[in-house]
Amino acid sequence: MAATPIMNTYNRLSVAFDHGAGAWLYDTDGNKYLDALSGIAVCGLGHSHPAVTHAISEQASRLIHTSNLYTIPLQERLAERLCAIAGMDSVFFGNSGAEANEAAIKLARRFGHQKGIDNPAIIVMENSFHGRTLATLSATGNRAVQVGFEPLVSGFVRAPYDDVDAIRTIAANNPNVVAILVEPVQGEAGIRIPADNYLNQLRDICDEHEWLLMLDEVQTGNGRTGKYFAYQHNAILPDVVTTAKGLGNGVPIGACLAAGKAATILSPGTHGSTYGGNPLACAAALAVVDTIQSENLCQRAEQLGQRICDGFRAQLGDSDYIREIRNKGLMIGIELTEAGTELAVLAKVKGILLNVTGGGRVVRLLPPLILSDSEADLLVNTLSKLIQIYAADEREI
Ligand SMILES: *Cc1c(COP(=O)(O)O)cnc(C)c1O
Repeated sequence: MAATPIMNTYNRLSVAFDHGAGAWLYDTDGNKYLDALSGIAVCGLGHSHPAVTHAISEQASRLIHTSNLYTIPLQERLAERLCAIAGMDSVFFGNSGAEANEAAIKLARRFGHQKGIDNPAIIVMENSFHGRTLATLSATGNRAVQVGFEPLVSGFVRAPYDDVDAIRTIAANNPNVVAILVEPVQGEAGIRIPADNYLNQLRDICDEHEWLLMLDEVQTGNGRTGKYFAYQHNAILPDVVTTAKGLGNGVPIGACLAAGKAATILSPGTHGSTYGGNPLACAAALAVVDTIQSENLCQRAEQLGQRICDGFRAQLGDSDYIREIRNKGLMIGIELTEAGTELAVLAKVKGILLNVTGGGRVVRLLPPLILSDSEADLLVNTLSKLIQIYAADEREI
């Protein structure tokens, strides 16, 4: 019998937080922690950011929810802002990353049916993560997420990540493909960064075959990689881009943006969400977008990522316990030569919040974009020392 009536779907660390400010969280015993995970890439502006707090409180006292049966001016303003930033033409709002991806998957299937393809297929990648709903876990390239939930949703074709030739082989053999769904950087897989021109090549293949290029920017979006959206490093436009996590700074919201022919595929009655894009969530997201832009936080993410990784390389670079230190902006991965899952617990004891992903071998850091230089240095120094001690202990055993 579980100790609480919460369904046991998460292995939680034994700490509960009472409040937060900027990059810091304070537990119920008064201890403080540098939050280098940001609620898994959600609180990009840190905790209790005044612009977000103000927007939420103001909106909550005015109007929280009306449903999508009516015009929602804040939703329209947010859609205009996001489309202008992304180079997209229309947006569907949901409440999470999985819902944003569900919208993209439905859009791609309908696109296929409109082309006369009765069994449309979407190319998805090995080691990808797209969410926990049935369609998105079927799209996810990790058996652990799927096992026990069969039958999976069909219509997904799997390819290795960062392998353009594999996509060309599928193109030559599968006339049912209508889209590619891919993360610009794989987050859950352990911060896997593809070749610089990977997205450009996928764009070309999609153009050749009239497929939709659909980018899952649930984790990479909202400034985290050093551009508002990660594909902006490649100077391409996708047909569809999904985002969520950092968009509401903790207020649940997800968005599926589409351009050109993809922008008008979903029509009244084909998709919906009761809460999606409600006034409260849109007010929060507008405050987030405003702050990211007015404070140049994309650029800041780039600088901070460089500073942090330079620091780790200086302190850990010659350790034979470290396979690679890599980053795209503030998506930072320290790949170990062997599993180091306990590092999340040990770091918590030292007052640092992080997680270990990629099969237990990659220490993942997703710190807030508002981190100061001295907080960045504190993170590097504390964690480097911890990893050195841990590596030495492991070697002795
Ligand atoms: C977290 C994540 C999702 C799922 O988002 P939820 O809000 O948990 O549904 C989907 N795709 C990627 C790339 C993610 O990192």
